[in-house]
Amino acid sequence: MASSSLIPANDPTLLFTNAGMNQFKDVFLGFDKRPYTRATTSQKVVRAGGKHNDLENVGYTARHHTFFEMLGNFSFGDYFKEDAIKFAWEFLTSKEWLALPTEKLWVTVYAEDDEAYDIWHKQVGVPAERMIRIGDNKGAKYASDNFWTMGDTGPCGPCTEIFFDHGADIWGGPPGSPEEDGDRYIEIWNNVFMQFNRDESGVLHKLPKPSVDTGMGLERISAVMQHVHSNYEIDLFQALIAEAQKVTGAEDINSPSLKVIADHIRSCAFLVADGALPANDGRGYVLRRIIRRAIRHGYKLGQKGYFFHKLVAKLAELMGDAYPELRQRQSQIEDALKQEEEVFGRTLENGMTLLESALAGGKTVLDGATAFKLADTFGFPIDLTADVCRERNLTVDMEGFEKALEAQRQQSKAAGQFKMAAGLAYEGDASAFHGYTENSRDAKVIALYRGN
Ligand code: ATP
Ligand code: MG
Ligand code: MG
Ligand code: MG
Repeated sequence: MASSSLIPANDPTLLFTNAGMNQFKDVFLGFDKRPYTRATTSQKVVRAGGKHNDLENVGYTARHHTFFEMLGNFSFGDYFKEDAIKFAWEFLTSKEWLALPTEKLWVTVYAEDDEAYDIWHKQVGVPAERMIRIGDNKGAKYASDNFWTMGDTGPCGPCTEIFFDHGADIWGGPPGSPEEDGDRYIEIWNNVFMQFNRDESGVLHKLPKPSVDTGMGLERISAVMQHVHSNYEIDLFQALIAEAQKVTGAEDINSPSLKVIADHIRSCAFLVADGALPANDGRGYVLRRIIRRAIRHGYKLGQKGYFFHKLVAKLAELMGDAYPELRQRQSQIEDALKQEEEVFGRTLENGMTLLESALAGGKTVLDGATAFKLADTFGFPIDLTADVCRERNLTVDMEGFEKALEAQRQQSKAAGQFKMAAGLAYEGDASAFHGYTENSRDAKVIALYRGN
């Protein structure tokens, strides 16, 4: 059966399909029954907005994409913790399957979850020095979080995660340590014990049946299996990066901008294939922002012509067997991307000139009025402007930007032709690096979990 669409069918709480479990949400909640109680899937997902947003990580980490393929196994009231953990270990380490060296695998469990700890430690035999309890109530000191939630509401539960140690020559520390943001210890697989449904007020309700949801990034496990460190070094990405170099004419194959472009062509092409189109609001605006970011990276590499749509053919060649929609809709995808290149191409150069002059003279902060003008007149989404600034270790005066936006809003309202707000919508503080936004380590979660 084909992967579910990236555009969620009936879920207004969800921007894009962000995990393999989305399509099973109602099964976990007990609203939907299937003729099976176990499943395995490979699901296309996009994390570029909403609860799980990795857009700002792309180009900066070895392991994040906006689009990736999530592998998973699921139990709907069938097996639970013990089997899930043993299945995961068997798949990763047994000679018949991936045969990974056990000494490179680290395991985290939810702080309160003694049961999972004991299964890993006593039954599977993972030594205590490679096991870490995460998500205690000492506050959100570091980003790690072992209570997985799909969104602000919906199925959730404590999880146990498996990390691969890529070796001492790479910077980074184990999860829960101050260096956990590094790329030495890379999370390859999350096993979630789905036990609760979080409602709008944040209260957790027990699910009808304890279930299992797991997610493993195909690109991350491919990197491990291909004996490379970064996702961007796997075969598929090397081919896309080489093609991106060809169409941009970039000199340096190692430029982070090529990784960004190789990443973004996947999310953009797959989103268009699933029916999204660039727009000034909602899902279409997220797509527009990703396309424009890719175009700007091409511009940075010296490519002033249209190039982005030219990557679709290579992508279809590489991924079209698994995802026939890429071939079926190739020309629609190319047209949509090219059209966006034409629209943004009209203002990009002038916008960049304005931005460059605003940044000249050793400034550390881009003023809000310029950021607003870039958005309003030149079609620079605020996160794109922030992306340029971040490359130079500068920030954007977001308060000033919002003030200018508000002033425009008032004016347009007065003029009765308010259109811009959606077009300038942005998420959160785009001026700083916030790779990790999920955090559900609140007292309520812990209290309920204890009471379980
Ligand atoms: P990370 O902490 O590295 O950001 P995560 O904890 O947000 O990952 P989960 O929500 O637990 O990830 O998703 C399950 C699995 O999907 C992860 O263990 C990882 O293998 C993979 N994954 C998550 N985000 C990405 C991404 N942006 N790009 C590629 N793979 C990803
Ligand atoms: Mg994580
Ligand atoms: Mg995780
Ligand atoms: Mg993440």
